[in-house]
Amino acid sequence: MEGKDVEVIRIGHRSARDVRITTHVCLVARALGAGSAVICGEAANDVVESVRKVAEKWGGEFTARTGKTWKKALQGAKNEGRTIVHLTMYGEPVDAKIEEIRRSGKLAVVVGAEQVPGEVYGLADYNVSVTGQPHSEVAALALFLDRYFEGREMGTAFKNARVRVVPMARGKRVEETNIKG
Ligand code: SAM
Repeated sequence: MEGKDVEVIRIGHRSARDVRITTHVCLVARALGAGSAVICGEAANDVVESVRKVAEKWGGEFTARTGKTWKKALQGAKNEGRTIVHLTMYGEPVDAKIEEIRRSGKLAVVVGAEQVPGEVYGLADYNVSVTGQPHSEVAALALFLDRYFEGREMGTAFKNARVRVVPMARGKRVEETNIKG
């Protein structure tokens, strides 16, 4: 995963309906190897704060922030040299494009909420489907990142974690690390 730099752009966030799912988009992005998330749409300071708290406790350098508009977020990503991958059920199958996409140095992965503006399809470098069936941005993002990182994201060690899980067949154990803060 070295040298892989992935930003997730969540567009169309609605503060009354999407807090939980946008938080899950960010948590999946963090857990499965992305470096950052930009949330576009309505105010999402509550999401940014809860993701910040998770990252502070569980480690790593993932950050979430709010973006002014989806157009500015996509333009910003393009200016940073990111390849834009829009996840949509109408796109080309992920397995047909993932090797080509993997050769890009930096990515921005766009996921929608209710209605994705038609312009996004034209601005994206790739429109990619994770099956041609309607489902969820959380599932589409998780499967895309797993394909992109070829499963290696499962073994990520999160630096400066205050706590970590001790895996076990039964029961739950979380141990504190020696990081203070
Ligand atoms: N009908 C909406 C539209 O205008 O495209 C999509 C709504 S869907 C609940 C929310 C998001 O989940 C989509 O914007 C897309 O990013 C993602 N998504 C859902 N199903 C998908 C699929 N089969 N492949 C890729 N992404 C998918």
